[in-house]
Amino acid sequence: MLYLSTRGHPDRKHFCEILLEGLAPDGGLYLPERYPKVDAATLAKWRGLPYADLAFEILSLYIDDIPAEDLRAICRKTYTAEVFGTREIVPLKQLEDGVYLEALSNGPTLAFKDMAMQLLGNLFEYELARRGEELNILGATSGDTGSAAEYAMRGKKGVRVFMTSPQGRMSPFQQAQMFSLQDANIHNLAVEGVFDDCQDIIVKAVSNDLAFKRKYRIGTVNSINWARLVAQVVYYFAGYFQATKSNEERVSFAVPSGNFGNICAGHVARMMALPIAQLVLATNENDVLDEFFRTGTYRVRGSKDTYETSSPSMDISKASNFERFVFDLLGRDGAKVRALFSEELAARGQFTLGSEMRKAREDYGFVSGRSTHADRLATIRDTWERFGTMIDTHTADGLKVAREHRRAGVPMIVLETALPIKFAETIVEALGREPDRPAKFAGIEDLPKRVTVLPADAERVKQFIAAHCA
Ligand SMILES: *Cc1c(COP(=O)(O)O)cnc(C)c1O
Repeated sequence: MLYLSTRGHPDRKHFCEILLEGLAPDGGLYLPERYPKVDAATLAKWRGLPYADLAFEILSLYIDDIPAEDLRAICRKTYTAEVFGTREIVPLKQLEDGVYLEALSNGPTLAFKDMAMQLLGNLFEYELARRGEELNILGATSGDTGSAAEYAMRGKKGVRVFMTSPQGRMSPFQQAQMFSLQDANIHNLAVEGVFDDCQDIIVKAVSNDLAFKRKYRIGTVNSINWARLVAQVVYYFAGYFQATKSNEERVSFAVPSGNFGNICAGHVARMMALPIAQLVLATNENDVLDEFFRTGTYRVRGSKDTYETSSPSMDISKASNFERFVFDLLGRDGAKVRALFSEELAARGQFTLGSEMRKAREDYGFVSGRSTHADRLATIRDTWERFGTMIDTHTADGLKVAREHRRAGVPMIVLETALPIKFAETIVEALGREPDRPAKFAGIEDLPKRVTVLPADAERVKQFIAAHCA
């Protein structure tokens, strides 16, 4: 399988070449040349496989430059009951008739990003060892991504992580999760500023200083990485097999969305012919994507028009993976995608699609909706009172919008993207009680913290990196 850029660059690459890269050279995102289709016999063979082996079967369709036995070993090392809490890895729980929650958040940091990041850590370690290279990951986080990256890379040979975060702005639980890591290859940098300052530092250190980037072998782990996306395809298959008895049945998925990474994996699963009826996209008050699927206008927002909400991992103004879907929607026309994303969006901050929108709904199964703080509180309360199940704020957005798109006879699987303990304040507001805390997180706020406070100054961050790269 070869990979191409969504903006039409002529180069074609193998999986391990794009694994350690970010964007394609023309600023586009990598996608496979085609989506392998799974037929009925393959689906029948996959039903009932343990999660790690299902992951191997799916990944091996996309990876032809890692020997099969190595790839299988990587999958088995990644998706274990020890790391993800259950033998099923992504267990399904029924709420009302035909509505299920698929638990993606029982990994080390209690959010769905672990599903892909844990695999990425093992793939990085494997590929860097094979090349005899090292990588220094520089990232910015306001919570979930940074901790998932650190827990995936801790103790990995050949990898160091330098993770910036806005000082004092993450929840005490999130700070404790990250800063309590004592691994020598993990560096927490609390920046005296806001999240935008952290991102700005990354741009200055990486995009604007190629000499520094090259000398210190700086890389990223952001959500545009294809390896993360393909890892997420697996749990759509695993959810389907748990919710159905035969491969004739169809299901729908509802996905709380921000950067369009999670639901883009659902789109890939559907392109592979997994019987998915609808992909229900849910946003919070930051409804860039809901606006697109309702109106055909994709209008990115500035940071002052991006609200701070109680489902903060979806507070985005520009969906970094969205270009992949638009590429497919436009019949994989790289020149058109380039015109929209690098010209029209840059010049006008928006673009509008017309006749394609019917295709998005009818051929690609996309529908959408939005959910507000009041909706989250009501959904969390209702789910607790009727089913005795406590859900987090992002999952509540998904469930609220899922119910608006129920169809008779089609099971609806809502992806649970985090556990309530990560967003305790809103749970207390909704239920008047603290969320349950998994035993392994008892008292983490009291553990010693390993963090360096730095001013919001790219030069100081670069000096820190230089001093810590042996
Ligand atoms: C990252 C995240 C999301 C959004 O996922 P995307 O892939 O960015 O669409 C939703 N919920 C939680 C809890 C997250 O951490």
